[in-house]
Amino acid sequence: MSEIHGLAVHAAGAHLLAYKYDPGELKAHEVEIKISHCGVCHSDVHLIDNDWGISKYPFIPGHEIVGTVVAVGSDVTDRTMGERVGVGWQADSCGICEWCRQGEENLCAKAQPTCVGRNGGFADRVRVNSRFAVPVPTALESENAAPLMCAGITVYSPLRNYDVRPSSRVGVIGIGGLGHLGIQFAKAFGAEVTAFSTSKDKEAEAKSLGAHNFVNTRDTGALKKVAGSFDLLLSTVSADQDWQAYVNALRPKGMLCLVGAAPAPVQVQAASLITHQKAISGSNTGSPHDLAEMLDVAARHGVKAITERFAMAKANDAVTKVKKNQVRYRAVLTN
Ligand code: NAP
Ligand code: ZN
Repeated sequence: MSEIHGLAVHAAGAHLLAYKYDPGELKAHEVEIKISHCGVCHSDVHLIDNDWGISKYPFIPGHEIVGTVVAVGSDVTDRTMGERVGVGWQADSCGICEWCRQGEENLCAKAQPTCVGRNGGFADRVRVNSRFAVPVPTALESENAAPLMCAGITVYSPLRNYDVRPSSRVGVIGIGGLGHLGIQFAKAFGAEVTAFSTSKDKEAEAKSLGAHNFVNTRDTGALKKVAGSFDLLLSTVSADQDWQAYVNALRPKGMLCLVGAAPAPVQVQAASLITHQKAISGSNTGSPHDLAEMLDVAARHGVKAITERFAMAKANDAVTKVKKNQVRYRAVLTN
């Protein structure tokens, strides 16, 4: 097999530089994918900057991959040459623990992220365990589908797992890559949707995507006005927030689910959870089964990422724009 060419970061916060590596022999359970598109998730930015202390340099970021299967290992029976597939945050898991066996591979203790300790999708090709290469429905364009592989599944899973239904009132906090898909999926689940944003200029677009209401979180009084309103609040923000105000915004039995990786400990009054039986949770991407289901729902309900396209060689420009919160709403690199 020939070398894989991509863009790697060699130290925390550094620019991406051209990089190649020898992937060695294709393993029996692996597929090799020729990448056409790769989204730029804010988690890539966290990894580039080593915000989570787990980055190993050099590495090629990228975990919102769409491409074509160009090689299959000798034991692979679930994927075929030429098939269009997507890969998200996860590239492998043990396959035998209780979580893998019940189709919750994202909870496996040996879950292998696509671009932590290995090389991801800012490249011409990538290899993963075939179980984590999910077919992309023909109704979805590759550029719009790539961001679904991480951003999409991350907002879809809590809506599904916390039983959102037409009577539900859902708030999506932070209207970026994840959030703009969260609005669309919450609408597809039939919920009343409220967008919470620091960016006033996103109001019209949030509403066109399906938000019924828009709360400008720069307006300190606005959060108080929606106290007691929501069954589910989904925070996609990577910065610390007034979590108590969001707990106060929940209805009895409401859930504040964090998918955005805010750095500081989340502090709220215990009594504010106890009195009306509220909860705070986290959610981590989703399993291959849920990815396939989410892609099908996206295809049927017209959920798609609004993208800004960059040539792969311009990945540094895309990363800079993500850091400045200037992308509307997902940067996608193309080969
Ligand atoms: P993104 O595209 O940069 O969007 C984040 C949004 O948060 C921004 O567009 C902005 O929305 C809002 N925001 C940014 N800074 C803020 C601040 N200081 N205060 C309040 N709001 C702020 O990022 P993303 O790709 O959607 O990822 C969001 C977070 O989710 C990241 O932390 C990422 O690592 C995490 N993530 C988690 C999972 C998981 O499995 N749990 C999966 C993927 C990503 P407004 O302009 O509307 O305010
Ligand atoms: Zn991601």
